[in-house]
Amino acid sequence: MSEIADRAEALVRHDDKGGFPAQQQEPPGLTTAMEPRPDHGEQTYVGHGKLEGKRALITGGDSGIGRAVAIAFAREGADVAISYLPSEQADAEETLAWVEKAGRRGALLPGDLVDRQTCMGVVADAVRDLGGLDILVNNAGYHWARGPEGLEGLQPEHVERVLRTNLYAVMWLCQAALPHLAPGSCILNTTSIQAYDPSPALLDYAATKAALNNLTVNLAASLGPKGIRVNAVAPGPIWTPLQPATREGDTLETFGADTPLGRAGQPGEVAPAYVFLASPADASYVSGTVLGVTGGGAVF
Ligand code: NAD
Ligand code: MG
Repeated sequence: MSEIADRAEALVRHDDKGGFPAQQQEPPGLTTAMEPRPDHGEQTYVGHGKLEGKRALITGGDSGIGRAVAIAFAREGADVAISYLPSEQADAEETLAWVEKAGRRGALLPGDLVDRQTCMGVVADAVRDLGGLDILVNNAGYHWARGPEGLEGLQPEHVERVLRTNLYAVMWLCQAALPHLAPGSCILNTTSIQAYDPSPALLDYAATKAALNNLTVNLAASLGPKGIRVNAVAPGPIWTPLQPATREGDTLETFGADTPLGRAGQPGEVAPAYVFLASPADASYVSGTVLGVTGGGAVF
């Protein structure tokens, strides 16, 4: 049985207390070093042609939520370009293999998106490799939650990376993509429960995610007349490499336990929200909204 099915069953039995074994990696983190391995829907996601012929660029598509979205999009009929950091080559190649196994075209685009020129180049390369662009998924993200909480814990090099990755890059990627997005195209941003219920340990990160919610609404207003929809997904705690790579290892033992559903989610449980919002048929009149996948945490 899949991890998701196991966890869903455990939830019904009310004996899943959430949390994972203590473990720690250095950023950006790799999937193969995680215990247990996340579930990206490899064994469970069934496509229904909802994105037939679409061409998608997914930043941070190598692992975690991005990998689950890449697998789901490919099984829905989309070609998928994946942007990631060069040190994540192994994760990116595994995601590419799943895309190709679904019978779709994939492209690997390594590069550090803190740099504007890299953002522009990644969009240009995606357009070149896929023959155009219909869906931009801004999903790359970074936080740093080791050390003291709050203002005392803010370290310039981490704050810089958080703002550049989570916020600046999204603006540059949207700017670069716009000339390629025809009516019927869409942009999907990845925000967070942190935009609504911020943790002191994620002061800078939470602020970028609140800003992304705002950006989503604003872009929906300005791009609506061009026939481009803009939406966001706000995940709650999800089991991905970002967590062991940026938190104190022992905090993972209770990761997700404080949600109403009492556990962290798996990346494969988040991907269907992106499929819905990307689908030109299912979400034809949906723009400027943020869809929570939080295990019960409020997104208002
Ligand atoms: P992840 O580590 O699997 O994915 C994040 C990806 O971001 C990395 O794989 C990396 O490729 C990419 N990335 C980071 N910095 C980059 C840079 N400078 N240049 C290029 N790529 C870069 O973790 P994830 O949890 O799947 O994260 C995906 C998104 O989900 C992020 O935006 C994150 O903030 C958001 N999110 C995650 C959670 C969670 O609990 N895991 C909760 C809410 C929101
Ligand atoms: Mg990764």
